[in-house]
Amino acid sequence: MRAVLDHIGIAVADLPAALAFYRDALGLEVEPPEEVASQNVRAHFVPVGASRLELLEATAPESAIAKYVEKRGPGLHHITLRVDDVRAAVAQLRARGARMIDEEPRPGAEGSLIAFVHPASAHGVLVELKQARQERNDRVTRYTLGDLELISVCDGFFHLDGGSMFGVVPKTLWEPKAPADSRNRITLAMRPLIVRGVRTMLIDAGLGDKEHATFCDIYGVERARNLDDTLAEAGVAPDQIDIVLASHLHFDHAGGFTMRGADGRLRPRFPRAQYVVRRGEWEDATHPHARNRASYLSDNYLPLAAAGVLQLVDDDQTIMPGVKVRRTGGHTMHHQVAVIESGGKTAIFAADLMPTAAHLPDAWIMGFDLYPVDTLAAKQRFVEEAVAAKTLVFFEHDPRVTAAYIIEQDGKRSIQPAS
Ligand SMILES: [Zn+2]
Ligand SMILES: [Zn+2]
Repeated sequence: MRAVLDHIGIAVADLPAALAFYRDALGLEVEPPEEVASQNVRAHFVPVGASRLELLEATAPESAIAKYVEKRGPGLHHITLRVDDVRAAVAQLRARGARMIDEEPRPGAEGSLIAFVHPASAHGVLVELKQARQERNDRVTRYTLGDLELISVCDGFFHLDGGSMFGVVPKTLWEPKAPADSRNRITLAMRPLIVRGVRTMLIDAGLGDKEHATFCDIYGVERARNLDDTLAEAGVAPDQIDIVLASHLHFDHAGGFTMRGADGRLRPRFPRAQYVVRRGEWEDATHPHARNRASYLSDNYLPLAAAGVLQLVDDDQTIMPGVKVRRTGGHTMHHQVAVIESGGKTAIFAADLMPTAAHLPDAWIMGFDLYPVDTLAAKQRFVEEAVAAKTLVFFEHDPRVTAAYIIEQDGKRSIQPAS
């Protein structure tokens, strides 16, 4: 089990006096209080680095905090350890003879799941185990854009190091938007997009199912519900896909381009499709270097050339009526986004230019990007245009938000999810 210190709970008898110390004398910031009515407690969280102090104030005489203070005086009440799977943690502790207050986890604040360990087993300290809320969206979502139908599908989730995902942005800033697990990884979706017009196009295809157990553990791959399931739910059979378009050839985008047949041989996963790849990206993927090698797995794309279904494009151009590609560079030299236009409306499949809605600020750029200053320029232009044209932006990796509009008001940028 891996556990990180989430917070330390301190029972307080005299809140103004406690604030005079923690807020005024120590100079810490105290968050607005949270009422936990069921416990007759008001909690005041005080961020300290990657964890927090929780000043606990009783709101009724029957509160456990009131009883605690009466018996022992104010002081350390509990510590809270955040775990990835609270049920597994409880099972492991019980197997080792620990005494639990909660044999079964129960709902805690902010949608979390918690269980208390008895102080008798924790050397006199009340220990709370907590599994943070994991809100995820793997729904099939349909949008109409002029004459085109856009269907967002999902190939499941994976996990990447949070620091790498936000580059130079400190964890204290990104963590509230993208909570990290005990291995410091954040949850990312893989959300390809179907465009149905005169032809049917699939943009990117997720990770696919060729990777082995070690890979899936490192990247925390969760594909119990995957592209096969969501395509079926969308009513699109693999042989109905005419064109597969690659934003770039990293494994989380191109893994689903190929599959292993019953004979063990690799072949294109969409039997009737032409696969459209930018020539520069193809060159880079087939000639990787030490800095990008881990992202390019040749089984995902070499079989396309062997099968004669690969179509390399050199410039920004229309791939099918209503869909054109635009090179952004930055993430990789030839990374491209898909610009979709119909009936005077615009949508953009942003791929790794803006992988999640949390990457909205200009400087929130992935550490993975090979040319981050190019990403910055491409992003500034992209946001300016998206705001002006009320573009529907698809976030391929956001665990919750499928698509949204970018709004800028009084110099402040925000997103408005599309329904
Ligand atoms: Zn990428
Ligand atoms: Zn990616």
